[in-house]
Amino acid sequence: MKSNPSKKKVEELRNRLVRKPQLVWDVLGPGEKKKAFEFAEGYKAFLDSAKTEREAVRLIEAFAKKKGFKDITEADGGRKFYKINRNKNIVLAVVGKRPVISGVNLIASHVDSPRLDLKQNPLYEEVDLAFLKTHYYGGIKKYQWLTRPLAIHGIVIKKDGNHLDLQIGESDHDPVFTIADLLPHLSRKVQNEKKVSEAFEGEKLNVLVGSLPLGDDETKERFKLAVLEYLFDTYGIVEEDLISSEIEIVPAGRARDVGLDRSLVGAYGHDDRVCAYATLEAVDKLKTPETTAVALFIDKEEIGSDGSTGAKSRFLESFVADLLEVTEEQAGEKALRSCLMSSKALSADVNGALDPDYQDVHEKRNAARIGYGICISKFGGSGGKYGSNDANAEYLAEIRQLFNENSIVWQTGELGKVDEGGGGTIAKFLAIYGMEVLDCGTPVLSMHSPFEIAGKADIYMTYKGYSAFLNSR
Ligand code: MN
Ligand code: MN
Repeated sequence: MKSNPSKKKVEELRNRLVRKPQLVWDVLGPGEKKKAFEFAEGYKAFLDSAKTEREAVRLIEAFAKKKGFKDITEADGGRKFYKINRNKNIVLAVVGKRPVISGVNLIASHVDSPRLDLKQNPLYEEVDLAFLKTHYYGGIKKYQWLTRPLAIHGIVIKKDGNHLDLQIGESDHDPVFTIADLLPHLSRKVQNEKKVSEAFEGEKLNVLVGSLPLGDDETKERFKLAVLEYLFDTYGIVEEDLISSEIEIVPAGRARDVGLDRSLVGAYGHDDRVCAYATLEAVDKLKTPETTAVALFIDKEEIGSDGSTGAKSRFLESFVADLLEVTEEQAGEKALRSCLMSSKALSADVNGALDPDYQDVHEKRNAARIGYGICISKFGGSGGKYGSNDANAEYLAEIRQLFNENSIVWQTGELGKVDEGGGGTIAKFLAIYGMEVLDCGTPVLSMHSPFEIAGKADIYMTYKGYSAFLNSR
């Protein structure tokens, strides 16, 4: 039998054998720490000007043009390309040294976030107040959207086909909007005694937009009419124009530093603009990579990836076909399939961080934590990995090695306890092509709320991790 080793030996053994998660702040030197804080400044500016998928696409397009990317549908050569899909979905590529057909390094994030969309016939009046009816988009806890300042972002296509971009509620001079909630004195039966899921109804998420009447007390629907008059005078919009519109109600206001030490960012839409921004910055710093780098920014993730701008559409496929053509490699179905099959992807999406007040829903040994760096998740799904991509061990080994070699502080994250709930990402829709896919992103507190929290250390490590990936072979 072996004799019990000395205390020192045991400690040596522990250091050699046990994985110890690292806190990013413990690892970063003062210079890097400063960089992490600076990185967050650019990110906050991105959050403020990209609250919807359309705004994000516009911003990414402007970035692409500024950095010399060419619209691939018009290009006849070059190394940097982009393509836009219906103004809600964009992809960038930097062609590498190896042929495109040998596969690309893809980072795919999404630029839509949970919110309230206007209904087709939204405008009405009730008890001498004017409202807009909404239908929520994505998984929200409805009560979080009540009694807070809201802004209107969107697009209206008028009957003559003209586009009108709307944004009301973000500038200091703008009014904001809100959804009223019942006073506590009267909420005992209709809210307090009910289950939360039943106490707040989607049909009651009505946005207050006015209380000035038009005409006299003989005038029919004079509060609604007053709003219509304002919309027509200001924007030339008539009621029917709202049918061909996409107007999104989002939390008003800017991204803010959170905490006395300013180490966190609070904002609407970290999910998933944090991964989108980290990807964009990684693309920006890219020279000529070994392997062609592709950054896909997708829409409709929050409602299941359906729709022509979602991950289930074949936009990526079509872009890679364009890439093969423009680089004058083998074109055709077989080349396309072969390229996609040999590609590697990070499904860049946030993960729910361990909630200090609800630790019981997490399995602490496997939950992502604020401050511990970029998070990789082998699988998501629910009820026995159902609906999950479940990445291959070989690919995990590769990414783990890549991160270790590049001093990326990383952690693993599983969304909640087994059988507690769960959720999916676009990983499985990328996996359809036979490429390697791994979920990899930033841990976030209060996910899907109007004010989500992410750590500056983790945001910075996400960028560093994506950079290392795009620079890998
Ligand atoms: Mn997401
Ligand atoms: Mn989400």
